[in-house]
Amino acid sequence: MSTEHPTGSTSSLRRTHRGLTLRHLLIDGEASRTKIAERLGLSQMAASRIARELIEAGLIEEAGQATREAGPGRHATQLRLRNQGVYAAGIAFSAYSTEVAIVDASGRVVARKIVDIKRHDDGASALCLLSDALIELIEAHSIPRDRLVGVGVVLSAYLDTSRNRVVSASYLGLEPFDVVEPVTTRTGLPATAENINNALALAEANIGIAKEYDNIVVVRSATSIGASILQQSSIVRGHGNRAGRIGHVRHCATKLTCSCNRNDCLNCSASGWSVLVRQGIASGEVYDSTHIQQYASAIENMVGNVGRDDSWPPKLCRDLRSAGGALADFLLTVDQTIDPEAILLAGSMSRIPDYVTGIEQRLRKLGDNGEATLAKLRVGEIRAVRAAAILVLLEKVYSSNLDLAAFQDRSAGGSKPRLRAGAST
Ligand SMILES: [Zn+2]
Repeated sequence: MSTEHPTGSTSSLRRTHRGLTLRHLLIDGEASRTKIAERLGLSQMAASRIARELIEAGLIEEAGQATREAGPGRHATQLRLRNQGVYAAGIAFSAYSTEVAIVDASGRVVARKIVDIKRHDDGASALCLLSDALIELIEAHSIPRDRLVGVGVVLSAYLDTSRNRVVSASYLGLEPFDVVEPVTTRTGLPATAENINNALALAEANIGIAKEYDNIVVVRSATSIGASILQQSSIVRGHGNRAGRIGHVRHCATKLTCSCNRNDCLNCSASGWSVLVRQGIASGEVYDSTHIQQYASAIENMVGNVGRDDSWPPKLCRDLRSAGGALADFLLTVDQTIDPEAILLAGSMSRIPDYVTGIEQRLRKLGDNGEATLAKLRVGEIRAVRAAAILVLLEKVYSSNLDLAAFQDRSAGGSKPRLRAGAST
């Protein structure tokens, strides 16, 4: 990760250093006061003061015995995050995932619930139901409200530049609507919204398998295909916050018709929906957003059959590899255009071995350039609802936005912070 060297007033500098200290502990697991001082370019005294403030606020703790560090008389107790110091909630709303979850300070899921949503085309109503389910989850697991910093909402939709409002979700069949307001009103918690691909990129780059990287591309392949670009640890949003619509990049002419009415989009060659059409599972060759849940459940069925040898007809394997191959062509272009440190595959299709094999085989056939792209390829680990909650942690805790006074007040008023809820997943 990159270490900023901020400028500004003393108090804003201290806010920045607190956020950076927490971020180092999130990424490294443990660090001594001396190490923190070195990494942030602070005096030992300044690092010790920040550590004391964060300990008093119940956000970090000392871990075990002191160990000897280089230099005369330097004994250093390791510091680590206090997992039950902070919680964040997540809501995921896509054809695959209508789910709520709560994570602890390290971004680990401590409670999770799948919510049955009958109608996907009414976004505001769906978010109200999901918010109600979240409140139940918070209560059922006795999550201390005063340590819950907010709710992240992720959607497979494009948001306006304020990230409060869905402006485009033709793939889900959604009309534009306000995302944040119903969640805030229903839960009484601050809410923040994000496109699902962007949330996955931020989560993977801070807590997941790409946490040592600042420049990554996440390509999410499910019913359709989307991407997110993280450049110097910031999301590349584009002019209208709609960067990453790679499903509509031209690939080759097919008999299929994409949601945008073209027949040559990457969606027609490389998506889960394109495999369903070629298998005769999706009715017709025209993408129909009213069938999104049938598409999603058919792909989930395939994922559920992974590992069962008898359920994979040769034609299905061929179609999956061919779709993976089409995506590989695009991944090479991405690598050559952006040169990220890693390319992460996400989404349900990334969990189907034949699809991933198709990507790998095609990249190997593309010579040295393909091999170079293949060397950067990883399969992501973090799921949408967890990414939603991690998003809030990154915004409210692991940044200069951290409201330390709020935690200090709570700790002072109520002696020790309450214990973590018992649930874990
Ligand atoms: Zn298209």
